Formats: sequence, structure tokens, C-alpha cells
Amino acid sequence: MEGTSNRNGLSNTFLENLPSALGIGDSDAENLLLREYGAVFVARGGAVPPDRVVFVNAKEVERFQTELKIGEENIGGFRLELQAPAMDALRRAIAEAESQKLSITPRGRDSARRSYDETIELWASRVDPALTHWVEQGRLTNNQAEAIKSLSPFEQVPEVLQLEQQGIWFAKDLSKSIIYSVAPPGTSQHLSLLAFDVAEFDDPLIREILAREGWFQTVVSDLPHFTYLGVHEAKLPQLGLKRSVSAGFTFWAPDM
Ligand SMILES: [Zn+2]
Repeated sequence: MEGTSNRNGLSNTFLENLPSALGIGDSDAENLLLREYGAVFVARGGAVPPDRVVFVNAKEVERFQTELKIGEENIGGFRLELQAPAMDALRRAIAEAESQKLSITPRGRDSARRSYDETIELWASRVDPALTHWVEQGRLTNNQAEAIKSLSPFEQVPEVLQLEQQGIWFAKDLSKSIIYSVAPPGTSQHLSLLAFDVAEFDDPLIREILAREGWFQTVVSDLPHFTYLGVHEAKLPQLGLKRSVSAGFTFWAPDM
């Protein structure tokens, strides 16, 4: 499986399994996002992966979501929507959990499908306080902070990631990258209806059941977040994904 890798730092096996229609720019921001959130782009099992690394605005998200076959279900008191094959697999996992007297429930009402605007709110909830903090610390001028605020959320992403290369961090605790805190606008797997935030993520039996139905943790540091990949675990390396273990949790992310 040790293939060569290209300038993105991603393995050729992973790149070969991406949808042919996926447009990949060669900006540092897109490469970083593909490395950190990219597992969803090789989803199988009838899933439709997003057709761009970053959805630029609400209109693009709506266009993508409108074309999907969607499954709806009331789970844990919330009306949730996922791509139909992902929801089917989740229903099977829930049934299996119930047969073992366990349960699989969402963390909240935004645990499955999200709109672009919801992801913007989350982003701003990190960026705005961080800008205030770094101005107070003298690392940014007021003008720099105002300039970033005046950009569209899409345009803010590369600017923020650029500042982070200088140690000006935007995660909630201001000590690491914002991408480990919230997904930048237009990049959340929830926009693709292929992600589900699980309340019982801590239970290894639940993780096993979800994995048997094609649901895996794919974003290191986002523990409740599961991605529908639609294949058995043994097949994931063939898609160019690599297993890593962190604090007892197994993650599948693009091989580099
Ligand atoms: Zn999530």
C-alpha cells in the first residue's frame, strides 16, 4: 500500500479514489482541508461525496443537497436527515445496538444535516473572539482584524489559516488550529449529509457496531463525529485511508 505521494502530500491511492469530478485547487488551505477532512470524498456504499473541497456559499450547498436522495428519521427526539444509504446503515446500527440493550442517539438537533448558514455561525463563534484576543495581545492591529471581518466567510478561511502559521491560533482555546475546533465554512461533512454526531461515541461497542455498518471516526480530535464511508473496515486502506489511534480511538484519514 506504500504508494508514492504527490505535491499535496496525499498518497496516490487516495487521489485515485477521489471522484473524477472533484475539483482540487492547489492552495495550501484546500490541501490542508483535504488532509484533515478528506475521508468523506472516497465514501462508497451509494454515498454521493461532495463535488468540491469547499462549498463557496449557501447556493452551492443547496444545489448539492437538492440533488441528493435523502433519508429522514426521528432519532432521540430529533428529526434528522442524511443521505439515504447513510441513514439506512444508521438504522441498521441502531437496531443492532437495541438488540444488545444499547442505544445510538444524536448529540443534538444539528447532529446530521446542516445548512451553510449554520456552519457560518459556528465559524464566526471562533473567529470573532480570537480576533479580539489577538488585537488585545498586540499580535494583530485593529485594521488587520477589521479587514478579515469584512471578508466573506469563504475568503476568511485562507487568511485565518495563514495567520495560524505564525502561531496566531483561532481554536476556542486559542492554542491550536481552528480546524480542530470547527469546520471552516463550506467544508463540514454535515453539509454533505454523510456525518452524524453520536452521543455514545465513548462506548467501544457502539463504535464497533457503527463500523460494521460503514460509519467511522475520520476527523482526529472530533470524537463524536462519525462519517459514512459505506465499506467494511478492511477495505478502507484500498481507498487510500490510513488508520491512526489516538487516546484509544481509531481514526481513518487520508493517507499521506
Ligand atoms: Zn460532526
